[in-house]
This record gives sequence, structure tokens and C-alpha cells, in this order.
Amino acid sequence: MPTDIEIARAATLQPITAIAQRLGIPDDALHPYGRHIAKIDHGHIQGLEAQPEGKLILVTAISPTPAGEGKTTTTVGLGDALNRIGRKTVICLREPSLGPCFGMKGGAAGGGKAQVVPMEAINLHFTGDFHAITSAHSLAAALIDNHLYWGNSLGIDLRRVAFRRVLDMNDRALRTITQSLGGVANGYPREDGFDITVASEVMAVFCLARDLADLEARLGRIVVAESRDREPVTLADLKATGAMTVLLKDALQPNLVQTLEGSPALIHGGPFANIAHGCNSVIATRAGLRLGDYVVTEAGFGADLGAEKFFDIKCRQAGLSPSAVVIVATVRALKMHGGVAKSDLGSENVAALERGFANLARHVENVRRFGAPVVVAVNHFHADTDAEHAALKALCRDRLDVEAITCRHWAEGGAGAEALAHAVTTHADAGPAVPPRFVYPDGMPLEDKIRTVAQTLYGAADIQVESKAAAKLAAFEKGGHGHLPVCMAKTQYSFSTDPSLMGAPSGHVVAVRDVRLSAGAGFVVAICGEIMTMPGLPKVPAAEGIHLDAEGRIEGLF
Ligand code: ADP
Ligand code: MG
Repeated sequence: MPTDIEIARAATLQPITAIAQRLGIPDDALHPYGRHIAKIDHGHIQGLEAQPEGKLILVTAISPTPAGEGKTTTTVGLGDALNRIGRKTVICLREPSLGPCFGMKGGAAGGGKAQVVPMEAINLHFTGDFHAITSAHSLAAALIDNHLYWGNSLGIDLRRVAFRRVLDMNDRALRTITQSLGGVANGYPREDGFDITVASEVMAVFCLARDLADLEARLGRIVVAESRDREPVTLADLKATGAMTVLLKDALQPNLVQTLEGSPALIHGGPFANIAHGCNSVIATRAGLRLGDYVVTEAGFGADLGAEKFFDIKCRQAGLSPSAVVIVATVRALKMHGGVAKSDLGSENVAALERGFANLARHVENVRRFGAPVVVAVNHFHADTDAEHAALKALCRDRLDVEAITCRHWAEGGAGAEALAHAVTTHADAGPAVPPRFVYPDGMPLEDKIRTVAQTLYGAADIQVESKAAAKLAAFEKGGHGHLPVCMAKTQYSFSTDPSLMGAPSGHVVAVRDVRLSAGAGFVVAICGEIMTMPGLPKVPAAEGIHLDAEGRIEGLF
């Protein structure tokens, strides 16, 4: 099998105007970036409001392992398969961040024959949305220090500035810095630091905003600091939001691209899946639902984090009702959940698969709580055996009464996921989408919301909130933020807060170390364990292998 970039490069792409035409988007509603990428104009997006909504299908997964699961690949493959069987389908994905491209993880445009293209552009600067978000965030950061410099009429406490700076790069050197050194003209020295752009609250706001007016209102609610009498200071107080919205205006228009098979894909926004909610923009999802009869979309990490936040944050805020959920599992990853080392994954091991099945079972039961029907997609890898796939299907049928379907879209493209597409449409078409059953109501106190998620979805005995965090939660309730949903930030590798506890642990205690208010995004982040908001590069970063060949083509990206 050739590499992802070789497959992508060999493809003949259609002009983006042809992809748009199939969705009824006229040429004058497109802002093309070259021949194969276009933004869809705000005016056209607004005009779609009156159109009927298609069906929303969420792709999520078991707890990730180093063996790889393939959510993005399956999202693309399912979208292609639905189009192949005659269902007009739009794929909605996140935009990749530059950091992971040059670090370890590689790209985020799918893989094999299930990719979105042009993959080099999508993975690198794309349409500049992340640069716009970095610029808007940087403007706000500059305005804060400028306000301090010119007399600080808002009385900001220099020691309590919570708004850090951002950059779209993995750079551990910038995690904690001292700034404004060098004398009076440079302002008041203070400790600061950088996060990666996708961790910016501006990114989360961008992805949850319904339109430009909502974007500006949400930016205004971002709390950047406390005053000396401990009152919150917002971006509205700093009069930052008008100029930030100007910088973000074009970026907020969703990006249209295509898959290798010519299916339309909207790739827009990319919030972190730990301190934010980890899925593409509400604007793109809502537009997709009006442009197509089906939207297939992905949520980051495993279903305990990604699907939970997709329902409890994104669907709650945007009024979305998914019609079906696909949980991606692989034989390899389930064997790892059953105790097999990565180096031993090449040999058949049905017993380990049965042990690791507990992880999939917990995710299926969890997702069913939200009310949408579930299908399991078993993403087929080369070394899998027929006996392993048969065993997994039987386990799903007998123990969970859920259909598991072997999918070969990575090797075969959309044709390899047609059976999945039929299963998904059978569920999605069975009746009108019903609003999800959220895990907790708006009115529940914040601490109880965290406990409810931990006990019902993670199998935890209880939570343990550190006193500092408990005091902050009480302050958020007092400040009128008690109605917000919670955004859980914990390891993606385990239902517990210990990444080495694979499978389906229960009875553990989830320690809540800290909480943060994201009033603009509209959630309270519960930090359970170590959370990195500025990743570092590995010893041998992927960047070392990336270069242009003699013909000016990008090599080594994947
Ligand atoms: P996720 O979205 O869950 O992080 P991706 O879909 O991005 O995962 O896939 C991760 C990596 O695994 C990609 O490099 C992709 O090409 C590879 N991959 C996915 N499915 C398969 C498969 N069936 N066989 C081989 N490699 C695969
Ligand atoms: Mg992905």
C-alpha cells in the first residue's frame, strides 16, 4: 500500500466549483483559495436557515491506544459510502493544527483511500483560519498589557491575568515566560506563558458561535483577569471584541474541500479535546445539515470524552439532535485493552480481544444513554484475522445487542464501508431525530455535574474536588455561571485518570485538581490530571523528515 501522501497526490481532484454545485452552492457564494479549496460566503450560509435539516451522524471511538483507531478515516469512508449508495452526504471535520504535524501524531486528514484532499494544504496553512485566530487572540493579549501600561483604569491585578498568549506550534520553551523586561518603556514585568492556538478560548468560541453577532458576544464574555477587588475583567471591558471580530470575519466562513472520491467535506475550526470540546464549528455542522441529507462528523478522543462533550456541550448549545452514532473499534486496540503489548499485535489472540471488549462495551452502553442508536464500525487492519472479526461481531450481538460491521474503507475507499452506510441509514431513517438525553440538566450544581459524568460514564465511585477547585466552583456559581455545562479534561487513554488503566476500570476516584471558567465558550473546565496546553516536540520530531523534492512537492509529511 502506498503512503497517504502518495495516494493523495495521485488523485485527480475536481474543481471546487463542481463540488459546490452538487450542494446547490452557486459560484458567486464561493471564495476560492486556489482551485480545490473554497470558503462559503456568510450570506449563503445565512440563506440556508430556512432549508430543512438533514440527519446528523456522529463518529466516535473506544478509548484510544497507540495501536490506532481511525475515527477521521472512518468518518471520511462512511461519508464516501453514503454518497455511493445515493445519499447526499456532507462530511464535517476539524482543521488540523500545525503542532502535531511537525511533532509525532502526523496529519489529521484521514488515511489510505479515505482521505480529504488536498491533504498537504489542509494539514499545513489551509485557508489561514488558525492564523486569524492566533492574531485575534494576540490582539486581545496586547490590549491587556497595553491597558496595564496606560494607567490600568480597570484596576486589573497584574498577578491575576488568566489570559495567556498563543502560537500554533509545539514549543515547550514558551510554556512559562517572563515578559515586559528591559525597562520602563516596556511595561510592567510579569509572568506569562503560551498555549497552542487550538487551546485558546477564542478557538472554542469560534467553534460554538452561531454567527458573527454571537461570536462577538461570546468574545466579550471571555474573562481575562481579575481586578484588585477580585471582580472579573472581560474582553468586553477592554473593548477588544469589535476588532477581534473583524480579524475573524473571513475565517468564520466554513471551508469546502473534497474527499478522494469527490464527496463534499466542510473542514472548519479545531478546538482541543481536553480543555475544550474537540469538534468542528457549529456553523459548519449546521450548514452541512442544510446542504446535505446527511452529515457525518467526528468528535475527538474516545466516546467518554469526545461523544460526551459533543452531546452535553455542542448539541446542547446548538440544538442538534444526532440520528445515529458510530463507535469505531479495531481488533488491535481491543487486544491492547485486553493486555497485549503493541509488539505482539501481529498474532491472532481471540482471548485478549474478549478481555479488551469490556472497553467497547462500556462505550456502547454510555453512548446509548444519550438516546441515539449505536452501530459499531470495526476498522479492518491488514494483520486482523477472520476469527477475530467473527468473535468481535458475536460479542457485540450477544452481549450488547449491537450490530458490528467490518469496514475496509482504508484499503478500498467508500466501497469498503457500504455495509456500514446501510446500517447507519436503517437507524437514521427509522424516524425523526429526537433531542438527546443529556447526562445532567442545566440546573444541576457544577460539582454534581462533574460527579454525574464521572459516576455514570467513567464508572467512578466518586470525585474528589481539591479545596482550591471547590472554592472556585462556588465562586462561579455565585457569579451566575452555575447553569453552564462542564468540559471534562482528563486522560483519553482510560475511563479513570490513570492512563495505564486500560479496559473498563470501575470504582476509582476522579480527582478534580482545578477548574477554569470559559464564559465565552460557555462551559466550566474540570481538570482531572495533568493537562498540557502547550505540547512539546519529541526527540526526533516529524519536522526532520519533511522537505521539498526536486519537483517542489512536499515529502515526508506522513
Ligand atoms: P483518529 O481520527 O482516530 O485519530 P485517524 O483516522 O486519523 O485516527 O487514523 C490514524 C492513523 O491510522 C492514520 O495515519 C491512518 O492512515 C491510519 N489508519 C487508519 N485506519 C487504518 C487501517 N484500517 N489500516 C491501516 N492504517 C490505518
Ligand atoms: Mg481524528
